[in-house]
Amino acid sequence: MGTWDVVVVGAGPVGLLLGGDLAAAGVRVAVLDRSAEPSREPKANAVVGQATRLLQPRGVLVRLGQPGPPTAARVFQFGGLRLDLADLAATPLHGVAVPQQALERALAERAVEAGARVRRSAEVVGIDQDDRGVRLRVRAESAVREVTAAYAAGCDGGGSTVRRLAGIGFPGVTDSTVVSRSADVVVPGGVVSPETAQADLPGIGRIGLYGWHRTARGAYAALPRPTGSLLISVMEWEESTADTDPDGAMELDEFTAAVRRVLGADLVVEEPTGPGPHQRRRWRGRNTRIADSYRNGRVFLAGDAAHVHNAIGAPGLNLGLQDAANLGWRLAAAVAGRPGALAGYDGERRIAAHRVAMHSQAQTALLAPDGGITALRALLTELLEEPAVRARLATMLEGADVRYPAPPGAHPLVGRFVPDGLARYLDATSPVLFDLGAASTDVPAGIRVISPDGATLPARSLLVRPDGYVAWASDEDGPAAAAGLRQALDALFGD
Ligand SMILES: Cc1cc2nc3c(=O)[nH]c(=O)nc-3n(C[C@H](O)[C@H](O)[C@H](O)COP(=O)(O)OP(=O)(O)OC[C@H]3O[C@@H](n4cnc5c(N)ncnc54)[C@H](O)[C@@H]3O)c2cc1C
Repeated sequence: MGTWDVVVVGAGPVGLLLGGDLAAAGVRVAVLDRSAEPSREPKANAVVGQATRLLQPRGVLVRLGQPGPPTAARVFQFGGLRLDLADLAATPLHGVAVPQQALERALAERAVEAGARVRRSAEVVGIDQDDRGVRLRVRAESAVREVTAAYAAGCDGGGSTVRRLAGIGFPGVTDSTVVSRSADVVVPGGVVSPETAQADLPGIGRIGLYGWHRTARGAYAALPRPTGSLLISVMEWEESTADTDPDGAMELDEFTAAVRRVLGADLVVEEPTGPGPHQRRRWRGRNTRIADSYRNGRVFLAGDAAHVHNAIGAPGLNLGLQDAANLGWRLAAAVAGRPGALAGYDGERRIAAHRVAMHSQAQTALLAPDGGITALRALLTELLEEPAVRARLATMLEGADVRYPAPPGAHPLVGRFVPDGLARYLDATSPVLFDLGAASTDVPAGIRVISPDGATLPARSLLVRPDGYVAWASDEDGPAAAAGLRQALDALFGD
């Protein structure tokens, strides 16, 4: 399997975005995955947040048949509470509705076309490294072979082997009181209407079809699938588990009994007959964990391998895809001889993971059937009447509340995600200089310079990294700005 600049372990969405960015930058990259074919398990239905704006300049939205900019959300939820965004001056939350399997297909096509080698049925079972490179032991076709690379990236999911082999801890909490169940079902008798996005549920009455609903005994959510079935999920906090085998498969009877407990009434559900696979899952406990380092020497972690959290609010892909975009340009720079670029990865992405850990735990807690939570929800409902509160929560769900560390005295845009309207100009392989002033004299080769309409630019000049974050900005023109730009470029690559 040879020698590579970078080996990416895991061909999920995060590994595939990283592999594509590296290949586009001319890096010799292999993406290895232990499974023989892409997962058919239904997972995400949407990418929510800033990561959507990385997909357009990488050509991924075109491949998904959604070439326009990501949709600005008019309504969302926070812990099952309605978050109206339509009346805000600028909606801070963006989304792209796409099944995870379709997203992975588009990312894989892009990576392969850019020159990445995607190799399946290749399981990484050992890693060691020294100051010259990484050696990975890879089991393929029942033989174990050695693969070498300058760097390795573990994008191998929540149970990451790379994390374990690299000796990286995974501290955090497991909330073992929560039991969740999800199943693709059909609900007969016109109880749900995807056309009006409403459901007439026994025990609850008429509710919006999408999102979480808290009941006296738990929480209920539904999501219509494009195939015609309905993905129903329930969460319980005080369940008698005596009648279920914790490790066994979940039968439909067990699921309908849980739905009955949560709704307080019977909801008739049937097995879907259309094309599958149909999800049926039970999981106990909720993990919120963040790797204690995203890097050990030449080995890096990204995506679920680096952090796991509750899925509420759909933050997983936003976090993981942005890890990949952040790590991609850094690894490409390191392969090109500028290893100092790798220094900022761990610190920057850890900030984003801690925000998600906090708000996904808070949102899950808001669904618990406890009297104190009822009071807390009443208080939050009052606060949500304020547009500023709704804007702030939506900004957090977008991931736009994150500011990466910036040097003292830096322009307020530095460390922030690229302002609206500029993301489509991003380049996956090099920083982009948006320039209205004189900073562009003496710009090093390889940096794309764009001079857009002044009305859309929030500073005279901005240097934006391939992951969409502002590395430098200036309100000045002339030699001082040009010197600041040169300094910022050196700092970016750790020179
Ligand atoms: C039911 C469900 C619904 C979800 N809904 C949403 C949603 O709506 N929005 C959202 O943003 N997120 C959602 N998520 C979360 C999202 O699916 C994950 O955050 C995302 O899959 C993480 O991507 P990843 O590439 O980091 O890891 P994974 O997708 O887990 O990919 C890891 C890959 O690594 C491979 N691998 C593992 N070990 C090895 C090894 N030793 N050697 C080689 N390969 C290996 C695996 O085969 C796998 O292909 C949902 C998750 C679930 C389970």
